[in-house]
Amino acid sequence: MAQSLVGLDTPELVQIVTARGEASFRARQIYDGIYRARAAAVGQIRGLPPGLRRALEAEFEVGLPVIEREFVSLDGTIRYLLRLADGQTVEAVLMPEEGRDTICISTQVGCPVDCKFCFTALLGLSRNLTAGEIVGQVLLAARDRDRLNVVMMGMGEPLLNLPNVIKATRLLTDKDGLALSPRRITLSTSGITPKIAALGREPVRPKLAVSLNASTEEAREKLMPITRKYKLGELIETCRAYPLRPWEKLSFEYVLLGGVNDSDQDARRVVRLLAQLKCMVNLIAFNPGPGIDFQTPDPERVAAFQQIVRRSFPCFVRKPRGRDIYAACGQLKRTN
Ligand code: SAH
Ligand code: SF4
Repeated sequence: MAQSLVGLDTPELVQIVTARGEASFRARQIYDGIYRARAAAVGQIRGLPPGLRRALEAEFEVGLPVIEREFVSLDGTIRYLLRLADGQTVEAVLMPEEGRDTICISTQVGCPVDCKFCFTALLGLSRNLTAGEIVGQVLLAARDRDRLNVVMMGMGEPLLNLPNVIKATRLLTDKDGLALSPRRITLSTSGITPKIAALGREPVRPKLAVSLNASTEEAREKLMPITRKYKLGELIETCRAYPLRPWEKLSFEYVLLGGVNDSDQDARRVVRLLAQLKCMVNLIAFNPGPGIDFQTPDPERVAAFQQIVRRSFPCFVRKPRGRDIYAACGQLKRTN
């Protein structure tokens, strides 16, 4: 199987070209071709001497994921079913917006965290994505647009694949490559506390969003069994200690499940839990689908919840995008 060039950094490319007797500046050309010019094939990388190009073509490919299917929503959202080199598939979702599009990418094939309201959970974990597979999803979306937000909120728990997520973030933000601002990349976690602390020690890292989803330890344990291992109290403590950059705020996501975690009392408890954190709250009304037994709350309930939280923190209701094509939060499950 040909090796992928996407996901390699400059030192790795230097090693490849010098091992073939070429000058190290050739690595720069390859890097530029992949990340800046967004070549889809080795033959599209400009300026390489024919000998090196042939040598590379014999062993390597650019290695972008292949768009196997594309589903377009009535609201313009596009869900991509992407095939990886080993035949596994993941999904990415492109949400066009005024001025700037957002691409929601996956970090694992499936997910090992067993959240009871999430369709990706039903798949279990197959494997981690490589840095190249993470960056590749962005490169596909960046092919015909320049201004992008990236959210690592597709399939998988990014903090259980932290080394590859960090390498991908470095490549995405490199000034000589895609040059995205770290302010435009957000990672969402179910709350793997030791890894949140590890993320905070990384010099180049995405913004942090934490999926809170419940207002008490007991309720969270029922909805997100991972809380038995990573306690809610510790999660909040870790967030308090998290080294925010001056421009940064924590985001908390809260999936509203009708009659389960959406009462006024829940809203008041959320406010108390997050007191003293520099944060904002994003509410997500449950996105339904077959095989998961929760209700979407009434819009009035969502609004009432938002009213209470808004007195203390900025609080937004996330617009459901692409529900009709199973592209909305928590719906990614490789549905054809
Ligand atoms: N694994 C990470 C990121 C992917 S999930 C995490 O859990 O944070 C992205 C967001 O979708 C999370 O906030 C999650 O709570 C939410 N979500 C999961 N299933 C959902 C559903 N059925 N409806 C609405 N949001 C859901
Ligand atoms: Fe995994 Fe996130 Fe879904 Fe939980 S909500 S199962 S962590 S993808």
